[in-house]
Amino acid sequence: MNLVIALVGRPNVGKSTLFNQMTRSRDALVADFPGLTRDRKYGEGNYENQRFIVIDTGGLMGDELGLDAAMAKQSLQAVEEADIVLFIVDGRAGVMPGDQVLADQLRRSGTQAHLVINKTDGQDPNLVASDFYALGFQSQFRIAASHNRGVRSMLEILLPTP
Ligand code: GDP
Ligand code: MG
Repeated sequence: MNLVIALVGRPNVGKSTLFNQMTRSRDALVADFPGLTRDRKYGEGNYENQRFIVIDTGGLMGDELGLDAAMAKQSLQAVEEADIVLFIVDGRAGVMPGDQVLADQLRRSGTQAHLVINKTDGQDPNLVASDFYALGFQSQFRIAASHNRGVRSMLEILLPTP
């Protein structure tokens, strides 16, 4: 059976860009504005002859006060289908209220997620990292999805050795 990797996170953090890098396709819509990819999207990836499935989600609405219920549900359904959950945040934006809400939600549902800090291009790596310790994850990956930086080394660590 194929390993399933779910991408969750607020709109605009770069989930669809990462999906495209992981699946090397143009299947997931990459947009310059939040909230466009509303449905879960499935793609097939391959790393060193290991096949895996990637699920892209619409994520959560940018509402400061709470969650868009339908989108939160999409994320949770993707999480249930997944073997590995990647919680994507925007290294340029810093920790946003929606990140905290989603981190708490994942924790409450008992989901072991990996924190992935995206958009680290042109950023001081140490400053980027320190901001996100507040979310309470043990470890973190730092990537720049649009530059395909850090993606392969992340897969190398995440995927079981064949
Ligand atoms: P999604 O809403 O989480 O699916 O986010 P998208 O993949 O649609 O990306 C939102 C915006 O962030 C787009 O303009 C992307 O080009 C941009 N983006 C994605 N990854 C990176 C990155 O690593 N660095 C920078 N600078 N921009 C990125
Ligand atoms: Mg998207």
